[in-house]
Amino acid sequence: MAKINTKVTDQTDFFQGNDPKALAEKYGTPLYVYNERILRERCRDIKNLVTYPNFSVNYSTKANNNLAFLEIVQEEGLNVDAMSPGEAHLEMMAGFRPEQIFYISNNVSKDEMQYFIDHNIIMSVDSLSQLEQYGQLNPGGKIAARFNGGVGAGHHEKVVTAGKKTKFGINPEYIPEFKEILKKYALKLVGINQHIGSLFMDGDKYIEGVKAILEIAKQFDDLEFVDFGGGFGIPYKKLEDQARLDIADMGEKLSKVMFDFAEEYGKQITFKVEPGRYISAECSVLLGTVHSIKQNNIHKFAGTDIGFNVLIRPAMYDSHHDIEVYNNADETEEITVVGNICESGDIIAHDRVLPKMTEGDVIGVLDAGAYGYSMSSNYNCRLRPAEVLIRENGDVVLTRKRDTFEDLTRNLISIKK
Ligand SMILES: *Cc1c(COP(=O)(O)O)cnc(C)c1O
Repeated sequence: MAKINTKVTDQTDFFQGNDPKALAEKYGTPLYVYNERILRERCRDIKNLVTYPNFSVNYSTKANNNLAFLEIVQEEGLNVDAMSPGEAHLEMMAGFRPEQIFYISNNVSKDEMQYFIDHNIIMSVDSLSQLEQYGQLNPGGKIAARFNGGVGAGHHEKVVTAGKKTKFGINPEYIPEFKEILKKYALKLVGINQHIGSLFMDGDKYIEGVKAILEIAKQFDDLEFVDFGGGFGIPYKKLEDQARLDIADMGEKLSKVMFDFAEEYGKQITFKVEPGRYISAECSVLLGTVHSIKQNNIHKFAGTDIGFNVLIRPAMYDSHHDIEVYNNADETEEITVVGNICESGDIIAHDRVLPKMTEGDVIGVLDAGAYGYSMSSNYNCRLRPAEVLIRENGDVVLTRKRDTFEDLTRNLISIKK
């Protein structure tokens, strides 16, 4: 059997000649390491998904909002979604033009709508209540709307975002009232969108969702686009050789649906998809340091500096991330890997069989590039980590500095005289 210590990163040549222990030494841990080549490959996978000509890949910035990362996505010719004015601000900083940004709102203030009106960025509303408010602010303007086609999917109930139980989208039975509001404010509906949920590994579920939103699209004349949403999954269990999402098969089926719809609709409208995780997850390894090893009753623990303030997915969604151990151990043992936060739920991996670790070892949490740094926090007054990028030539550059005490205190106002 091949040694599991570095199995996955060896297969992808992730570190490109850099020693993870040396990176940990130079930049400190925890440290998010990104690989530019892999990021570019993932962008191209989705850009080339279909043969239909009017196709836009809108990367969902909420998965990873690192500036250098966005600059690469922009260079690859993708467009972007924004979930807030802050995201749009960062996207424009990275070089995206307003027409390349699509704002997908959920329960937002009129001030927030005004920001997007002022910046000429098309936004999507997801209730009649918000459409009415948008109409008051921007009569005669262009608008998009998020519908709930009734098909939901996802790896955890917290990330299923369509179907019967969700807060998202407008249900199709409200279309008559929806059209009344459009008319009242002379709004032009330019597009409709949906997002069925996050991390599906079965392309057919997505296609089912696509067909549902297209049924809704037929009820509107003269749309410019239909946006099918994101959720494209990646295999988190690479050590078990989990299969990849079959992008080729899915692309073929999607192409057919797109061409057929365009013919029926009488217009080569634009179709959009909104991958977040698929673009960003696999190009990152989160490095951490083992600071203690101990046996508590039946469990053996490796205590690291990767608390859930750094990577919250395991604690929040029970997510699995593979772990590599950058030492030369030949023996393995069952161990639970935990962080340094004062909570029992601060667990990265339960009872995993991993190479035997000792204090000072450097570990890598794989596929950490989506909902990793972007969901990190200063909980326990911990400093958010630094981020580095391995360029295509193997050079390593710092793309985000580690927080300092100043970052923790900059907004605080003392009441002591
Ligand atoms: C989160 C989100 C996405 C991206 O989801 P992934 O699972 O990362 O692909 C796309 N669209 C919307 C509306 C979202 O909320």
